[in-house]
This record gives sequence, C-alpha cells and structure tokens, in this order.
Amino acid sequence: MATSANPTLRLPALDKLLAAPPMQALVATWGTAACTEAARVCLDALRPAMRARQLAAAQITPDALAAQARQHLQACFAPRLQAVFNLTGTVLHTNLGRALLPDEAVQAVVRALTTPANLEYDIASGGRGDRDDLIAPLLCELTGAEAATVVNNNAAAVLLTLHALAARREVIVSRGELVEIGGAFRIPDIMSRAGAKLVEVGTTNRTHAHDYANAIGPRTALLMKVHTSNYAVQGFTKAVGEAEAAAIARQHGLPLAVDLGSGTLVDMAQWGLPPEPTVRQTIAAGADVVTFSGDKLLGGPQAGLIVGRKDLIAKIKKNPLKRALRVGKLTLAALEPVLQLYRMPDLLPQRLTTLRLLTRNQAEIARQAQALQPLLQAALGDAWAVQAEPVFSQIGSGALPVDTLPSYALAVRPAAKKGRGRQLLRLEEALRQLPRPIIGRIAQDALWLDLRCLSAQEEAAFTAQLATLAQALGHTAQLPIKGK
Ligand SMILES: *Cc1c(COP(=O)(O)O)cnc(C)c1O
Repeated sequence: MATSANPTLRLPALDKLLAAPPMQALVATWGTAACTEAARVCLDALRPAMRARQLAAAQITPDALAAQARQHLQACFAPRLQAVFNLTGTVLHTNLGRALLPDEAVQAVVRALTTPANLEYDIASGGRGDRDDLIAPLLCELTGAEAATVVNNNAAAVLLTLHALAARREVIVSRGELVEIGGAFRIPDIMSRAGAKLVEVGTTNRTHAHDYANAIGPRTALLMKVHTSNYAVQGFTKAVGEAEAAAIARQHGLPLAVDLGSGTLVDMAQWGLPPEPTVRQTIAAGADVVTFSGDKLLGGPQAGLIVGRKDLIAKIKKNPLKRALRVGKLTLAALEPVLQLYRMPDLLPQRLTTLRLLTRNQAEIARQAQALQPLLQAALGDAWAVQAEPVFSQIGSGALPVDTLPSYALAVRPAAKKGRGRQLLRLEEALRQLPRPIIGRIAQDALWLDLRCLSAQEEAAFTAQLATLAQALGHTAQLPIKGK
C-alpha cells in the first residue's frame, strides 16, 4: 500500500459514487436506500487512511468501492433462516425445524402463497366457509374421530382444549405424566395458564384406576392422560391405560382428553420402527379428545391437531382462544397433501420425507459413509482420522425416547491426543461456518456426522463444500479421484 499511496487523494463524494455505473448496478438489485448506506459505510472505512494520507488510487475507483459495497450488501441481506445439514443423528430435530415436507406439500404452499384460495369460502354455496372444513373430513377419516380442528401447534392444542373444557374447574392427571417438553412446555404451567386446576394423582412410578376414581369430585371437568413422549418410567411401574381411564371417565359422565404428543396415524412397527400409539387406537380406546403435533412423526407442517367428539370439538372451536391460535393458509395448504399420503399407506415410506429418512436401512447408510470417508479425510488432512462407524440415530421431538435406529456415521478424531477437546470444538465450529452449515455432534472424543439425514440429492452439496472446509482449516484438500 505504501508504494502506491498518494497523499493528495480524496474520497469521492457520496452522490458521485452512487451515480457511477458499478454502483447503479447494485441499486438495481438492492434499491437506493440500502446502497446509499452501504456506500457510506465503505467510504467511512477509508477515511482514516485518507487522513493518514495513505489512500491508493486503486482503492477508490468506482469498481473497487462498488465491490466493497456489494460485499456489505450481501452480508446485510443474507437470510438469517439458513439451510443446514442435519447430521446430528436426530431426525425430527426441534432446533433444526423438525419434519421435512414432501414435494406435494411444497407445491401446495407455493400455490397458496401466490394465488387466492378458498380458505374460508364455500365454493358450492358461494357463502362463507370454515377453514377447518378443508382438512377435518380427512382427519376424521384417518383417525375414526367424529370431528377435528387445527391450531398453531400441539402446545396450543392442549392449552385450548383445557381452557375450553376445564376453565375454573379441575383436571385429573397422573403424577407419572406431568411432562416437560423442551422449550418450556410443562403440563402444570399450561394447566394454570388455561385457568384449570391440576389435580395430581398416583405417584411418579405408579398410578392406579382407584387413584383417578377417588379424585373425581363435583369440580372435576376432565380426566387427562399425557403421552410420556420424552422419557420412560421403568421398573416397578403401573399406569392406567386409555381404555381403563375412558371407562372411569364415562362412569362419572366426564370426558377423557389424551395428549399424544407425537401421535401417529399409522402403525410404525410395520416398517420396523418402534411402536407408538396411533390416534385411531386412542379414539377407539374411548378418548373423547386427542391432541397431537403436525410436525413430529406425522411429517407435516407445524400444527396442533385436535380430534374427538363432535360436541367437545364444537365447544373448543367456539372458544375465543381458537381464533387467536388458528393456523394460516400455508399450514393448511401443507397439511392437506401430507394427510392425503396417509390414504396410500403402502407408498408412505417413499413419499413421506420423514418416514423415508426414518426407514433408511443401515446397510445403505453404511455404503454412503464408506464412499464419503476418503473425501472427508482428504479435506481434513493428516491432523484428523475419519472413519465410517455404526451409530444409533434418534427419532427426536420426544417421539420414542428409548428406542434408536441403527445408522452409520463419519467419526472424526484428532490424530494427536493433546488438546483433543479444543480441536474438536474448533472443527465443529469450522463445519458450522460453512456456507451451508454442517451440524454434527461431539461425543466420546469424536465428532460424529450421522448420515441418516443426508439424502442422495444432498450428498453433492455436502461434498461440494469440502474444499471450502479444507481452506478454512488452512490447507488445500488432496481430493482423491472418486472411484467405483
Ligand atoms: C411435543 C409435545 C407437545 C408440544 O407439541 P408442539 O407441537 O411442539 O407444540 C405437547 N405434548 C407432548 C406430549 C409432546 O410430546
């Protein structure tokens, strides 16, 4: 810089710079206000050099300044909601957006975003319609329930159900089912926010039928069962099943509400997955209202689904909170094709993205790991040892916490034992800072990249970043020729 510095050089005026063709090209993309601000920032950054008489002519050409401004604008307008690679091994990862939606749902959302639709318009009569009617018949068909409604998420579904059916009255819940789901959803808190009084019965490990029966009094509004989705009570345990709880409720003229959490519409065991109670079974067992999530095992958009007895659903829909918690057209647009897929259960494992990931077999993931191992090894260099190793993936989102899915991962270990922990953290950070961040998991002195969620289409995008990773780690990758 010192050789080309010219002590008499002055920065161009802001308006002159903005009028220059390279800046005008940026204005066409980002508009005048943002480009003016970017130009101002770039000029300000050079002011100290000007005062020190260190400015070089090459720094202040319109092209050079516009290149700086472009970088600034690109950073400013980079989306904060970024695509990442979920190699954590948790398929339904709440922090990474849970279920991925099938193409049919994506198309439906795009259509709903860009064209008017009959969201609350009855095409047959030309009158006002009810947005729930778009998917309630499907939900009823798939669950055997009489009626259905949809809200923003399952936490909202539980809150609304309790408020509509039990405000200022008592709700009986087993002590073994007072769950906390990550992100501050706790049954006792939701209960008090809904204005209902929680009556705990039984103990942490054992609750009997007579515990429920003895707690029923004149102020009881509801019996409630909550699926213990993110933990398991094992050993000396006793829980009252849905059918038994429903019988007790019916004897006393009370409804039974069941929060299934993940809730599935089909028997997952048919694909080798751990069994989960289905919504249909729960309704058939006598539950009067069932709540479950749209974006857990169901594989749809974020939503809370409420199905059950017609009179109770009507009461829930009339509650003012329903209006506050209702879903938008994008949710309904995405939900409908996902529910439609459940009418073709034999095609579900190929067509429903979540189920396709959950049912990928270990041998296939192992082949993928073996193919990627030399590529990642080359990108990371001698300081690291990359190995393809068996692991267990998790379903996630509280579904089936105890059971895991055999999978395969790339396990990365530092070659040198010294400072292992720090090295792993540095590598994990380098992966997170890639253009499309790769999210893995550190455990047992290794960084694990579980490949279950790296679909064939995504693999190319993954390998395309390996050269950038090598650069970030300060060397160039000696990428081997990929042989067959
Ligand atoms: C996940 C879960 C919820 C909350 O559902 P969201 O859709 O995340 O709001 C409520 N209850 C149970 C039992 C759950 O597993």
